[in-house]
Amino acid sequence: MNTEYDAIVMGVGGMGSATAYHLASRGVDTLGIERYDIPHTMGSSHGNTRIIRKAQYEHPAYVPLVNRSYELWRGLEDRTGRDLLHVTGGIDAGPEESQVFSGSLRSCKEHDIEHEVLSGSELNERFPGYDLPPEHCAVYQPDGGFLIPEQCIIGHIEAAQQAGAEIRAREPVSDYEPTKDGRVRVTTRKEVYEADRLVVTAGAWSQKLVPELAGLVEPVRQVLAWLQPTAPGRFNPERFPVFVHATGESHYYGFPVYDVPGFKFGKFNHLDRAVDPDEMEREPLPEDEKLLRDYAEQYFPTGAGPTMKLSTCLFANSPDRHFILDRLPDSPQITVGAGFSGHGFKFASAIGEILAEISLDGETKQDISLFSLDRFD
Ligand SMILES: Cc1cc2nc3c(=O)[nH]c(=O)nc-3n(C[C@H](O)[C@H](O)[C@H](O)COP(=O)(O)OP(=O)(O)OC[C@H]3O[C@@H](n4cnc5c(N)ncnc54)[C@H](O)[C@@H]3O)c2cc1C
Repeated sequence: MNTEYDAIVMGVGGMGSATAYHLASRGVDTLGIERYDIPHTMGSSHGNTRIIRKAQYEHPAYVPLVNRSYELWRGLEDRTGRDLLHVTGGIDAGPEESQVFSGSLRSCKEHDIEHEVLSGSELNERFPGYDLPPEHCAVYQPDGGFLIPEQCIIGHIEAAQQAGAEIRAREPVSDYEPTKDGRVRVTTRKEVYEADRLVVTAGAWSQKLVPELAGLVEPVRQVLAWLQPTAPGRFNPERFPVFVHATGESHYYGFPVYDVPGFKFGKFNHLDRAVDPDEMEREPLPEDEKLLRDYAEQYFPTGAGPTMKLSTCLFANSPDRHFILDRLPDSPQITVGAGFSGHGFKFASAIGEILAEISLDGETKQDISLFSLDRFD
């Protein structure tokens, strides 16, 4: 069995699958190593849907990245014949001064993104699944929608394999070390590999594996609910745009009914509970369900019927909630992609391209100055 590669990708979830594809498509002999199945439900990239939107309330610097992501997702659909991206329109709503509304509007204006501004009452009238306070404000962005994360991972893996990458699942990496000759040695439960370069895309496990990321990638437990709508027609993808909604204190996000017979939504950072991903309570608890149901009953009352499904997931938060995309200063043969802070999936296709470029070329054509490791020095 081959144990020598040009590049190894550690962690084949949302970002690692894309990175393996972009490395392999550049002719690089690539190995992707994943500790669980591909795909699986233990990390950050499961649960049927992930929002994609052009408006970026987090920071306008994300807009060029998401534009590139849309192109690459459509390209991956063409290449694999898989259905990955559904356009439903997207809502960013909340009090006028909220970051979700005002930041979204700012990014639309700065980047000339097609949008409309609606009052809460106009929004509720146009999309009757919603029942937001009339005085809330909303940016409606017609290109918003959702990705199917499991299909995206499978699509990237198929494309990576077609380009020559080897992918191994159920093989946890236990250790890695830079070698004296500037390469890297990676030890798994089954084998020891060597490569010219390593890309670490280990999600919520990043700070356990990479000493340089200690304290910079905090895993936070998430819970999602799917409730059966009592007015089902209001929650189908044709009539219900995806949303991010700031209530004042916190913000929530949600989706039309897709694949599971329920309206899906969650609260950003849920109970703000930092966890060890290997010890986390995986089973949703009654308090989790109550928090989510209370929200739906208030703002989406016709979406708040019987519970169809609950699921836990993990955010991996950086201190400023911006991504970390960089080479390690003392080991430039090691590149990290981490800290996606609950808003990374939509960018995975472009992040894979960027991580491949950083790893191979030491630079990328995208402006990633917001994402450097030295901002935490
Ligand atoms: C509930 C929820 C809702 C979200 N909603 C959205 C949304 O609507 N839109 C959006 O854009 N983003 C959203 N996000 C964020 C987005 O899903 C994440 O930013 C993204 O999935 C992170 O991908 P990743 O590759 O970093 O992590 P993962 O996909 O978890 O991949 C990391 C991989 O590394 C593997 N790994 C870890 N340790 C090892 C090891 N030792 N050896 C081998 N493999 C290892 C893991 O098993 C895992 O497969 C959401 C996240 C959650 C949890």
